[in-house]
Amino acid sequence: MIKNPKTDSALHVLKGAVEKVLGASLTTSVYEEGNKGRLTVEFDRNPTKEEIFEIEKLANEKIQENIEIKHFDMNRKEAEEKYGNKIYDKFPVPLHITTLKILEIPHWNINCCIGEHTKTTGEIGNVSIRKYRFRESKQQLEIGFELALFP
Ligand SMILES: [Zn+2]
Repeated sequence: MIKNPKTDSALHVLKGAVEKVLGASLTTSVYEEGNKGRLTVEFDRNPTKEEIFEIEKLANEKIQENIEIKHFDMNRKEAEEKYGNKIYDKFPVPLHITTLKILEIPHWNINCCIGEHTKTTGEIGNVSIRKYRFRESKQQLEIGFELALFP
């Protein structure tokens, strides 16, 4: 599997939009391959088409703002004191890890992530939500997206 920094960065931009529109703050899994990706969050209902459209719109606005994506190392204890649980996803970081790689898109998304990212949101290019699926039994919402190959 080839990892694309744009796709990983898009996951963070989308997550910020999902949190704003739906209030869903816990990521349960992410998947990425080439210019395609999927974000899965804990959620308790099927979203409307308008909500999905709004998520896509906000994500693309954040990309167009072309703001800096910060990525830095931080002592785990300090990071937990400063940011609390919101840096974590549902899948835990192993206990022996004492330094976290923190990704921050200011006022949008903060998350520990060991992936590679672009330096700015503008480098990501246009993001399109291709499909979404609410899984009632798991109480999870999957959002599949694709990046323009030639932004
Ligand atoms: Zn990442």
